[in-house]
Parts: sequence; structure tokens; C-alpha cells
Amino acid sequence: MRETDITEKIRALSVYPYDEYKVTLKPKAHLHYAYRITDKGIEIELSDYLAEAPLSVLNDECEAIVKWSMGKKYVQPASLSEYLVSSDFIVKNRPLYLRRCRTVSMMQQGSSKNLIDSVERLMAMDLVFDTDISNSYFTWATHMAKYKFGQCNQTFRVVSINPDLDADYVPDKVVDYVVYHEILHLRQDTSKNHRPHNAQFRSWEHMFPDYAAMEDYLRKFYTVPGRRRLCFIRVTSTDDVEILRVQIIVVRPTGHHRSRASNRGCHRRSKRVRVLDTCQRVPSSLS
Ligand SMILES: [Zn+2]
Repeated sequence: MRETDITEKIRALSVYPYDEYKVTLKPKAHLHYAYRITDKGIEIELSDYLAEAPLSVLNDECEAIVKWSMGKKYVQPASLSEYLVSSDFIVKNRPLYLRRCRTVSMMQQGSSKNLIDSVERLMAMDLVFDTDISNSYFTWATHMAKYKFGQCNQTFRVVSINPDLDADYVPDKVVDYVVYHEILHLRQDTSKNHRPHNAQFRSWEHMFPDYAAMEDYLRKFYTVPGRRRLCFIRVTSTDDVEILRVQIIVVRPTGHHRSRASNRGCHRRSKRVRVLDTCQRVPSSLS
């Protein structure tokens, strides 16, 4: 999908302090908004995820952005907040988000662990409830930074988990704990602009049995020698998204502080990459 000009659809706002305005919908992986002041007016850029939003929502959002351009604080309009949490918005746009977001494998079943098993165990323990996970999507990430074990996109309700945890030697409970942490982000009220790990969040987090031991395990996770990293590689063509499961075996430590070019060479030689199997093909019609 290309950029779409929707200026005609937006109500001609005489309240706008600019002579001319232009509103476009742009395709980007994450929900975003931006503006640019030109010689004659303002160009407002909205996410194409809002393509099917009610006109009133688009109008309210444009007005908020104009106010923002005049030096006021940006305040997300209530109508937009309401639309973003509607299942109409999430269900319609999540497949497109998953296709664009290159760090999700779109797999719940890893080589050792299934994320849905973790969710079910958490529910059986009464730590997680239906309302927490309604309309949510769980997936192994293709890769994730060391020491970052999970990620939650609250807009599209997508939880992704570091594939290094998808190994037989990792206790199920550790994966459950990471999944639990991310589910707590789904539980949070996104319309309130609070810190993600506030006191309320921490009190929920501490309800997990052996919370301190789980944190300790994760803190030491990458210090164990000979640890193998597993990841998924997405090969995107015009027809489909092919997901390869590969194993990366770290044969010597990385992180030499040399010039960038030689560092890259070092990086390559320090890993052996083996394709284990091709585990999924997703037709491009998904988007
Ligand atoms: Zn968090």
C-alpha cells in the first residue's frame, strides 16, 4: 500500500491557522503520526492503519496535531483512543502489522516450547485471566537483543518472546514468567500515560511464584558458556514470507571493540549458522 492523500475527506477546518493543509496516510510498521510545516501550510502524516477509521476520528486527530504544531502538548483525542482499542481496529490491522514487523516469527510453537502452553499454565494458576489476553497474539520473536526477553506491542496486542528461551535447558517456568510479564503490559490501561513498570505493575509481577529466582535466572542467562542461540529468519518475497529456523552456535565471544569494518568480519566468523528446517510459509495474501 502506498501513501494515500485523504485531504479531501478531512473537513475543511477554518480553525486551522494555516492557508493550506494536506493529510496523507503512510504505510509504516508502527502506528505513527507526524507533521511538517511547509511554505504555505502544514502536511499531516497519519498511519495507514487508520485507513478505515471513522471520519470523526481522523478529523479529531488532525485537529490535535495542528494544536501540537502550534506549540501545545499533543493530546491523543478520546475518539482515537477508543477506536484503537476496538477489536475492529486490532483484528483488521494486526495481520498487516505482523507482516511489516520483521522481528516476529508468527510461530507459537518453537523447537522446544509452545507459548500457548505457557499462557494456559498461567491461567490455571489464576495469574492470568481471559480479559488480560482477549484478542491477543503470541509469537516467538525472530531475534531479540541479549537480556531483552520479551516485548509487548500494546496497540496490536502482540507479545513476542526472545527465541533464546526456546531451548530444552530453559525451565518452562522461566518462559511462563517472561510471558506473564508481557501479559501484564496487555492488562495495563494504555489510555493512561503512566510509566510501564510502575508500582501497580511491580505488585502484579511479584505475584509470580519464585519471582526473585526467575529474575536471577534471567540476569545470569547469557553468562553460561557454550550457550546456543536459536533464531528464526524471515525470507520475504513478493509471494510469501518464508520462515527458516536456524541455529546459531557462538564459537567465540563477540564484542571486540575494533573498527566497525573489522568488527563486522569478526562478527561473521564468530558464529556458525545452520538452517535446521523451513518451518512456515505464510502467503502474502495475509496482508
Ligand atoms: Zn516490561
